[in-house]
Amino acid sequence: MAIAGGGLLGRLLAWQLLEHGHQVSVYEAGSLVESPSAAKTAAGMISPISEAIDTELLMYDLGMVALQQWPKWLQQLLQAMPDQPVYYSHQGSVIVAHQRDQSLLHQYRQDIQRQLLECAQGHWLDGTTIAEMEPDLEAYFRQGLYFPDEAHIDNRHLLQVLLTRIQQLGGECIEHTPVDTDVFTIRERLSYTDQHFDSVIDCRGVGAKPQWRNIRGVRGEILRVKTDEVMLRRPVRLLHPRYQLYIVPKPNSEFVIGATQIESEDCSPMSVQSALELNSALYAINSAFAEARILEMDVNLRPALNHNRPNIQCQPGLLRINGLYRHGYLVAPVVVQHTLALLLDSITLKHDFSEILFDGGESGQLIEETQSAYAIDER
Ligand SMILES: Cc1cc2nc3c(=O)[nH]c(=O)nc-3n(C[C@H](O)[C@H](O)[C@H](O)COP(=O)(O)OP(=O)(O)OC[C@H]3O[C@@H](n4cnc5c(N)ncnc54)[C@H](O)[C@@H]3O)c2cc1C
Repeated sequence: MAIAGGGLLGRLLAWQLLEHGHQVSVYEAGSLVESPSAAKTAAGMISPISEAIDTELLMYDLGMVALQQWPKWLQQLLQAMPDQPVYYSHQGSVIVAHQRDQSLLHQYRQDIQRQLLECAQGHWLDGTTIAEMEPDLEAYFRQGLYFPDEAHIDNRHLLQVLLTRIQQLGGECIEHTPVDTDVFTIRERLSYTDQHFDSVIDCRGVGAKPQWRNIRGVRGEILRVKTDEVMLRRPVRLLHPRYQLYIVPKPNSEFVIGATQIESEDCSPMSVQSALELNSALYAINSAFAEARILEMDVNLRPALNHNRPNIQCQPGLLRINGLYRHGYLVAPVVVQHTLALLLDSITLKHDFSEILFDGGESGQLIEETQSAYAIDER
């Protein structure tokens, strides 16, 4: 099989297909180590509840399945590579607002409750509980919200570990090779040559746009800083009248800070305004961040469809998967499991979201045709 795109979806699928005994070739436009993917830029939050504020209940349902699947996958990787544990923490998230913006916290909670039909309420935090949970927020915030059922992952390390495991399992990795996809065919753009496979899976994110015209890129910007002066255990979201900032702790005293989501496909470097907003909001969370070192300012495009949901288009010889938008780590487990269930008889779905993930209407028949075309012996 061939996979076009070595970002989040491409790596997860390649790894799982290799584990099930398939031969897999991964084509990546850039470097697989440096990785130009949105997956590398991402903050790595798995936040089914706090993300629900401006999405739909579906994302909550997909995210709750993801919270079960990630630990299983990470355990599987750890067994194969015991010296490479990927940091993953399921200790929830904290939402805070400064004293003058307290009404935003109440509004946020109401919005979450309305959106999630009371299934995830969150707990109020006061000064004492904030001090117990996140001592470095204590001096700055007297009230907050806590959502226990949220997680975060060291996404960059995950991408590295997946690459190593794919190589260990004999996956062919072809980098610096931008491709187009067609049924049973990978078309190398630079050499104008066609390679033929039993099947092709298109996971190119925004790079698939020339062949999937509804794909749009949504610009996102992050800062990565390092300091030993501040310690956070959980992702923290700061509510502010003009922006919402998130700060996600990473191993080695690093933090990823993001806020902006801009409806633009401009992938040029970060603007001065965004840099000022991110830096000043960071300082407002704890003034000790003033001495943090800025390691990186990164910009990337989230691959989105009109409805901002993931979508799998299938036909014999070609699967196209896209639209993970700003929820890649939140929804990838469900998207990958549904793709594997389509390809492998041995995978059965505990939670079936096929009607939503696959194209509507004729999907039932197409899925059956696709399944019989993919009827390949498993190990
Ligand atoms: C700033 C930011 C913060 C984010 N934070 C989070 C978060 O906290 N939690 C969360 O769940 N999600 C987050 N996301 C979203 C997440 O990163 C994406 O949803 C996810 O990476 C999409 O996965 P993908 O595999 O479809 O695309 P990508 O990860 O972008 O991978 C696509 C790959 O295809 C390659 N490619 C493109 N064109 C071609 C071609 N022609 N030939 C070969 N290869 C090609 C690209 O180089 C890339 O490596 C964030 C995204 C951004 C930008």
